[in-house]
Amino acid sequence: MDKKIALVTGASRGIGEAIALELSRNNIFVVGTATSDIGVKKIQEMLQVDTKGVGAGLILNANNNESIETLIKNIEETYGDIDILVNNAGITKDTLLMKMKEEDWNEVIDTNLKSVFKLSQSVIRKMLKKKYGRIINISSVVGHSGNAGQTNYTASKAGISGFTKSLAQEVGSRGITVNCVAPGFIDTDMTNSLSEDHKTQLLSKIPLGRLGKPHDIAQAVAFLVSDKAGYITGETLHINGGMLMI
Ligand code: NAP
Repeated sequence: MDKKIALVTGASRGIGEAIALELSRNNIFVVGTATSDIGVKKIQEMLQVDTKGVGAGLILNANNNESIETLIKNIEETYGDIDILVNNAGITKDTLLMKMKEEDWNEVIDTNLKSVFKLSQSVIRKMLKKKYGRIINISSVVGHSGNAGQTNYTASKAGISGFTKSLAQEVGSRGITVNCVAPGFIDTDMTNSLSEDHKTQLLSKIPLGRLGKPHDIAQAVAFLVSDKAGYITGETLHINGGMLMI
């Protein structure tokens, strides 16, 4: 294939959907993942209709090693080696620490953090060989600020930040960059469940006065995977409307 190949996890909705579309518009062949056949069909249709057939949808359960191995094998055999990995899939299971069940801790850490380790490890050998690669990990503003009720989620996102810096140091000499994009509060299914009161409270802390759109995040990812960002690695690009200035 003459195009670069990108794997975007969790591309059926929200931020991942916007990233998949943006990358495919930028002449990249995108494989997007979902956890269900309905989600896969949605991705297939989105990429076919909007960008005239420059991508594919496949199943991934990010907290299952076998699912990750099957996905990577399938992509490599069908399309070729992955040049760009966007670790976007993520979940929340919010509650105060006192009430948090160990299974909810494990599920969030496995889905959000362990998957970043497994997926990165699955693609890195081929990238090292090619002396080219881009890995973008979607972290979160709350991985930097903390957030009551999200000890599991914030631990997973802060973990991604440390992982990114370490891997960037390991593979930089081989033309591979590894960066984070840390969204603030973005208008997706993940934030739809917030009460109106909570949203009003949040908006009062955002200098730009609005929640972010998935497109705001997709633009940053498109930049970081482009040649324009070839000298940026181990960084976090914060996109939060000014909510947290680091
Ligand atoms: P979303 O709308 O809830 O979408 C989540 C995506 O992840 C879906 O495509 C979903 O697939 C996929 N997914 C869920 N569980 C999975 C699993 N076990 N294995 C593989 N894929 C799975 O979320 P979003 O708001 O777009 O968030 C995307 C990323 O941005 C996440 O990492 C999130 O933590 C981060 N983020 C979001 C915000 C925000 O305000 N929205 C802020 C900071 C960071 P299905 O459709 O098949 O379920």
